[in-house]
Amino acid sequence: MKAALRATGLFLIPYSINLTLYTISFYLRSVLREVDIKLIPSHIDNEPIIRKKIAQKLKWKGEPNFYFKLVKRSIDARKNPVMYQLRFLVSSDSNIQSDADRIGINYRESGSGKRVIIIGAGPAGYFAALQCLEYGLKPIVLDRGKDVRARRRDLRAIQQLGEVNPHSNYCFGEGGAGTYSDGKLYTRSKKRGHYLKTLKVLVDHGAKSDILIDAHPHIGSNKLPGIISNIRNTIETHGGQVLFDHYV
Ligand SMILES: Cc1cc2nc3c(=O)[nH]c(=O)nc-3n(C[C@H](O)[C@H](O)[C@H](O)COP(=O)(O)OP(=O)(O)OC[C@H]3O[C@@H](n4cnc5c(N)ncnc54)[C@H](O)[C@@H]3O)c2cc1C
Repeated sequence: MKAALRATGLFLIPYSINLTLYTISFYLRSVLREVDIKLIPSHIDNEPIIRKKIAQKLKWKGEPNFYFKLVKRSIDARKNPVMYQLRFLVSSDSNIQSDADRIGINYRESGSGKRVIIIGAGPAGYFAALQCLEYGLKPIVLDRGKDVRARRRDLRAIQQLGEVNPHSNYCFGEGGAGTYSDGKLYTRSKKRGHYLKTLKVLVDHGAKSDILIDAHPHIGSNKLPGIISNIRNTIETHGGQVLFDHYV
């Protein structure tokens, strides 16, 4: 019977209609558009105005019942009035996944993994240690200086007494050279891994999620030491080690 229908082409008609309907519904579900709009600062949290602007940009007909998610934010202060420039992902699906959402990070319990000795608990050393955890390797980080809180006492000695500890100062110690800066994060490099992964690691360890969307993000000098301690905690709770006062 099937063979007879196939021969006349009748078998194929419902199948092709099905396929078309499936394709249309799939397309509708996965429509994702990038839309740039400009807003004055007082409208930055005004959802109806943002929705209206996006609808205008899309030349949307009918009820603007789409979903949107902010993925980039910058301020143009060159002219008056100052304007926010915003980029949204717009979709018919409520579950909008940005590039940052799609980055998965999985630290494995690595206490019994192969040992990797890392010299220096600066950004390079700590991010190398986190990468080891993703591979199931056991990182052992050695630093000549002290942990980020004890290090602060040595900075006070520099400022107040002019005494410099050669192993614990503005350059050396946990967190490395930029620990007491405001933590600007302007790189947009994708050469050796996506910069968004670095930002996501920082958010997972206590930085504001704003750094994922701001064009000129910074962590803030008050937050950096806490984030560095949290990264050490991740290394240690997954079986790695961080050893201070270890001059190599
Ligand atoms: C004041 C200042 C502000 C900055 N602000 C920013 C900013 O806002 N944004 C930004 O992206 N970058 C900033 N930077 C640059 C940034 O800090 C560096 O690019 C970054 O610290 C380099 O990381 P690193 O891990 O390679 O080296 P380092 O940060 O230098 O870390 C090296 C680590 O190794 C340890 N070490 C050194 N020798 C030995 C040894 N023989 N044995 C054991 N341990 C050792 C040190 O104690 C140190 O912890 C700033 C730098 C400074 C100085």
